[in-house]
Amino acid sequence: MKILNLPLSRSTVDRAAHLRTDEASLAKLWANGRILHFNGGAFLSDDQGLKYLSTADITGTGEKIFLGVDGDVAYFLWCSEVHIGAEDAYKTLREIGHLLSDLDIGLAVHAQGIAHWHHRNPICPMCGSSTSAQLGGSVRRCSANNHELYPRNDPAIIVLVKDSKDRILLGRQSVWPEHRYSTFAGFVEAGESFEQCVVREVFEEANVKVSEINYLGSQPWPFPQSLMIAFEATILDPENAKPDGEEIVDIRWFDRDSLYAATQDGTLLLPPVISVARAMIQAWYTQDGAQRPTLPDAETWR
Ligand SMILES: [Zn+2]
Repeated sequence: MKILNLPLSRSTVDRAAHLRTDEASLAKLWANGRILHFNGGAFLSDDQGLKYLSTADITGTGEKIFLGVDGDVAYFLWCSEVHIGAEDAYKTLREIGHLLSDLDIGLAVHAQGIAHWHHRNPICPMCGSSTSAQLGGSVRRCSANNHELYPRNDPAIIVLVKDSKDRILLGRQSVWPEHRYSTFAGFVEAGESFEQCVVREVFEEANVKVSEINYLGSQPWPFPQSLMIAFEATILDPENAKPDGEEIVDIRWFDRDSLYAATQDGTLLLPPVISVARAMIQAWYTQDGAQRPTLPDAETWR
C-alpha cells in the first residue's frame, strides 16, 4: 500500500524553531498572537472548534509556549489552571477534533503533547531540582545544574497483518468496547528497531511469523505522548494465528466482503476514524479498486 494520509498528521503550521532563541521577537509576536488555552486536559472551545484568546484575555500565572507561525500570525499555547470562560467551554481534543482544520489540528496536537510534557516535568530527573520552561517552551532547564530536558515521544508500532490471500488479521483486547477489533500495536522497547518490534509484537500477540514489512506512515498520538509508526506485514503461516490470551483475547481473519458483512451484522466495530488502525483498514479495503459499500463511520473520535 502507499504512504497513508493520516488524520492527525495534517499540520500546516510552521514551527519557526529559529525564533525560539529570539526572546525579543517572541515577545512582539506574543503581543499580537493567537493563543490557545489548555487546562486540565481540555482546550477552551466554542461551537466551531478551538477558541483563540488575545494577550488582553490572559490573566494569572501560567506557562507560555510558542507553537509557530502561519503567514503573519503567531500561535501560542497558554497552560494555566486559571479558567478563562465557563468551565463547560473546555473541550478535549477527542470531543472537538472532528471540527478542526489542518492548521488547527496541527496546533492542537502539538499543544496537547507539549502541555502534558511540561505538566509532567517540574522536577529535573537527573538532580531533583526544579525546572522551568525556556526557548519558547521547547525545552525545560533545571535551576541547579542547567540540565536540559526535551519533550518526549514514545514510539509505538502499529501493524496491519496480511496473509498471501490478501486477508487481514484483526485482534480484540478485552478492555475495548464490545465487538471492537483492530490492528496489532505495541511500544518499541529499549534497543529495538521498528522492524524488530513489528516482528516481536505480531508473534507475541497473534503467534504468526512476519516475512515482509512495508512502511505506511506515522501519526502523533498525544494521549499522552505516543508516536505511531505504521506498517503492513505479510505472514506465511496464517494457520498458526491464535490470540495470546492476555492482551489479545480473540482474533479474526477478514477478506473485504466478510469485513463489510461483519460491520453490518453487529459483530465488528471498527476503530475510530482518527486512528492509524482505521486508516490502514480503510486503505486496504479500497485498494483492489472493486465497487463495495462504504465502511460505516461508527465513532469518529471517541
Ligand atoms: Zn538537574
